[in-house]
Amino acid sequence: MDLRSLLRILSSEANLRILSLLSTRAMNPRELARLLNRDESDVSRRLRVLEKAGLVEGRWGRVGGKNVRMYSLKVDELKIRFNPGEIHVEGREEEYTLPLEEERPSVGVFVGREEEIEELQNRREAVLVVYGIAGIGKTTLVAKAFPRAFWHHVTGTEGVEHFFWRAGMFLQSLGRGELIEYLRTGGNDEKTILELLKEGVENTNATIAVDDLHQCNDEGFFRVLRFLARRMRRGKIVVTSRIKPPLGVEGVFYLRLRGLRPEEAYNLALLRKGSITPGEFAEAYRITKGHPLALNLLFESTARGEAWGRENFFEFLFEEVYRSLSEPERSLLGIMSLFNDPIEYEALKRLYPGRGLFPALHSLLNRGLVERIGEGYAVHDLVRSFARETSSLSPGDYYLSYADYLLEKDSPEAFLRAFRYVVRVNAAERFKELTGIRLRRFREVVVEFPKTYMKILQEAEDNPYIEAEKAEIEFQRGLFEKAEERWLRVKDALGGIQKANVLTFLADLYLEKEEIEKAREYLEESRKLAEELNEPLVWLWHVMEETKYLYFAGRIEEALESAFRELEFARKAKAGPDTEALVLLHIGDILGALKRNEEALRYYLDAKELCEAHNVSFRANITYFELAKSYYHLGRFEEASHFARNAAEYFLRVRNYRRAVDSLAYLVVSLIGLRALDEAEKEAREMVKIGQATRYPLSWAGYIFLGVIEVLRGKDGGKYFKLGKEHLKDKLWLYDAIMEELGKVIDLDKIPITSRS
Ligand code: ADP
Repeated sequence: MDLRSLLRILSSEANLRILSLLSTRAMNPRELARLLNRDESDVSRRLRVLEKAGLVEGRWGRVGGKNVRMYSLKVDELKIRFNPGEIHVEGREEEYTLPLEEERPSVGVFVGREEEIEELQNRREAVLVVYGIAGIGKTTLVAKAFPRAFWHHVTGTEGVEHFFWRAGMFLQSLGRGELIEYLRTGGNDEKTILELLKEGVENTNATIAVDDLHQCNDEGFFRVLRFLARRMRRGKIVVTSRIKPPLGVEGVFYLRLRGLRPEEAYNLALLRKGSITPGEFAEAYRITKGHPLALNLLFESTARGEAWGRENFFEFLFEEVYRSLSEPERSLLGIMSLFNDPIEYEALKRLYPGRGLFPALHSLLNRGLVERIGEGYAVHDLVRSFARETSSLSPGDYYLSYADYLLEKDSPEAFLRAFRYVVRVNAAERFKELTGIRLRRFREVVVEFPKTYMKILQEAEDNPYIEAEKAEIEFQRGLFEKAEERWLRVKDALGGIQKANVLTFLADLYLEKEEIEKAREYLEESRKLAEELNEPLVWLWHVMEETKYLYFAGRIEEALESAFRELEFARKAKAGPDTEALVLLHIGDILGALKRNEEALRYYLDAKELCEAHNVSFRANITYFELAKSYYHLGRFEEASHFARNAAEYFLRVRNYRRAVDSLAYLVVSLIGLRALDEAEKEAREMVKIGQATRYPLSWAGYIFLGVIEVLRGKDGGKYFKLGKEHLKDKLWLYDAIMEELGKVIDLDKIPITSRS
């Protein structure tokens, strides 16, 4: 590859982001696409180019009958040397830091503010707040003072969970995946989220900017900031707000931002206008008091003298500037002012078809009417309301057209934004289509963004498709009765895959409630619909539920057959590695129940390989746990302890204590099997510690294990047994199960104290 092409590749921000993400670990295109909010096909194409350039390395693996490509960095540094007559690039020691964050506003012309910048950069408080009126320069100041900050723009429509997700992704890109793992696996305990967020920021020493906090109407956000202010020792949160937010005093520094100082404003005038007379400048400063946005508009307008002193100063300025705009510029400004969100250039091309977009946008940017925020463009807040009044456009078609643009993106966030626009124009005829898209492409939205999605749904008018979605959120949150009531009310008004989805959920709900007959009825209905629709995805849902039903009914052999059909449909429906691995686990579990452990092991190993190749960590660790169990039952304690330890460490890290304890239990019994008593003791104590914090019953097995360990050392383990039994006295079945597993590694008859009484 020649140098010119190499530099061209490196000049793409998307490519640089990919390289930066790969520096944390190897990833596949699908995962990268998700982190970057881009299409998988686009990411794959870029990876191929980067590979050809020798910057990354791809490796094929064959997993579950499919080829999967994993990419890692081949070069982690580049050195460019300028020699007489040639330029030389080497792969080491190059130092350039390019902020790789999407939403941060780009700072163009900038003057002064040295004191403020120094103050902000040197403060020790964890939370820094810059507040002041609109257009005074808060955002610009923070972007300038913290050029590497991760940027979060508060919009008022998205709740704090949106912030958690974005911060989680950001921390993951710095190699701290705990928060995002916790969220992905459905974790929603606020205290845990805050701890993980705090640890992530502290460990990466990151700066997070929270822009326009005054727009926030989720009290949760303030709780987050107060918590971080009090507890965070490294890293920073920098907030901008029009009003001073109620965050208390502990760990918070407030900077009230005022206009530019005269000498700063004068510099701005020179940069904007080239030259200005002292008289003219004095008048401009007197009127604007150094307000930078006002100054910018003023320098754009042609009016002079006393006209500046008018009462509706901004309106007047805006009109002045507006008058000087060309027709295309006006029309673009009108369209853009319909939106509060920054709009991507690609989207603008659709909203403003025909030629002339680029020069019009360029001119609006130059005049300070529009600003660039990350990859999008937005009309400045202060200008928007005037621009809206001036324009006679009706937003409906523009919102729908923007929604269509968003739906083409492969990201749940974009999907939610699209849905919001559709709801805003009340386009009920599109609810069916959108909920269909949710089921096919963004199934996880109900678990990952329950509050945000619910809020959007609540703003929509009554509609069965909307109701069914609300019910699913409720179901996922454990509000089974509410969900049941809603689903029963609307199910007959639904059609298509939405109906199929509801029928299988109802079957599931009745299985959970042990109302087997009802579950069977809904399964029957869902089978008919699956036959009618004949879509692999719908069949997959149906068959998954059927397996569960057959297993429940004790028809294990049939459940096994059904599980194999799951696998067939999961592959046909291209349901993705996570679902496919889940199905492999189902097969393994059922084989285990049939005591066909060697075969079960084979499916677990397949699942393991699949998860590892695609970096689906949660499922991978569930698989490790199942493997540990299988190996344990086969008496292969070495392997069992290896997998149990991996799983335990992971679940502890993502604060999933139930699964951590489940894994620790197998770890301890395997270690006892290996007679590694010191290690076993350590892990058993860990179990007890978790029990004291969480009261999760299996944790108390830790005491019993400690007792056994003492006995094996020739001592008296009596006091531990007693404690264990006491804690489990209402759960004798669990006690028996623990003893049964222990019976596989020690001769219980030699420990009379373990009898039930
Ligand atoms: P706020 O966040 O307070 O609403 P912004 O940071 O968006 O204000 O600034 C408003 C306008 O003023 C922007 O167009 C910005 O470019 C300009 N501006 C703000 N501060 C400065 C500065 N120090 N130098 C030059 N221009 C500035």
